[in-house]
Amino acid sequence: MSVSVDLSGKTALVMGVANSRSLGWAIAEQLLKAGAKVGFSYQGERLRGELEKLTAGYEGTWIQQADATNEEEMTALFARVGQEFGQLDMLVHSIAFAPRTAMEGRFLDTTPEDWNTALTVSAYTLVSAARHAEPLLSPGSSIISLTYHASQQVVPKYNVMGVAKAALEAATRYLAADFGEREIRVNTISAGPMRTIAARSIPGFGGLYDKGARNAAFGRNATPEEVGKLALFLLSDLGTGVTGQTMYVDAGLSIMTVKE
Ligand code: NAP
Repeated sequence: MSVSVDLSGKTALVMGVANSRSLGWAIAEQLLKAGAKVGFSYQGERLRGELEKLTAGYEGTWIQQADATNEEEMTALFARVGQEFGQLDMLVHSIAFAPRTAMEGRFLDTTPEDWNTALTVSAYTLVSAARHAEPLLSPGSSIISLTYHASQQVVPKYNVMGVAKAALEAATRYLAADFGEREIRVNTISAGPMRTIAARSIPGFGGLYDKGARNAAFGRNATPEEVGKLALFLLSDLGTGVTGQTMYVDAGLSIMTVKE
């Protein structure tokens, strides 16, 4: 049986696409294929050219620079969403960052500065984006973000980013409760390891990726396309009734201990 999702007339903002390998782009591709109108935000002018190239073939897309930690830029971004769309059906937060210094040594040595940076960029910006989006949301609107299993179990070198992902998952539940009576949904997707720019900045990611492929129930890692399809489910009416959840798309990696 094939289910096709029609998002024509629906609007989306995707925050955090660096290039075609970004999980945010894999999600955007599903939304665009389903007929949604999609706006994109990117952190710095460095990424503008790449995003212009990616979105060139898609009618009705627009892009705007916004550092998610910058209040003025966030206000301007959501004003643009209002001007372009009038309302917002789908919000995708696909943003994370921790300074390399925080991921090289021991978790025990995490500095307050690195802690604040990692938690602000990787978790607080979801809360901020949801608050800026609030006036544009209506019953049926859906918000998602991207998390990782290091929130639940220790993954070597993930360090403060594991704490940031735990905060993101908890924030998802609190936001879901705040929006609950209006039936605005908030969920987070826990993706297995995928080769993206952000992942490459994690020390030892290559080994983690290979081990993931060996140990996952499927004997391979999940793909960005599979992340995109779960996102489509959560963002569309297929996902009504689901809120506050952390949903895994990891080819069964998190359920396994080490395979024989
Ligand atoms: P990515 O392509 O590098 O995307 C991360 C994006 O976050 C980049 O566009 C980056 O912009 C942006 N960003 C960082 N700080 C920002 C800020 N202050 N304001 C606005 N944007 C900011 O990597 P990705 O793997 O697709 O990451 C997307 C999400 O998936 C992240 O939450 C990540 O933790 C999560 N995730 C990834 C994996 C994986 O294995 N790849 C697994 C599970 C979850 P710049 O390039 O300008 O810094």
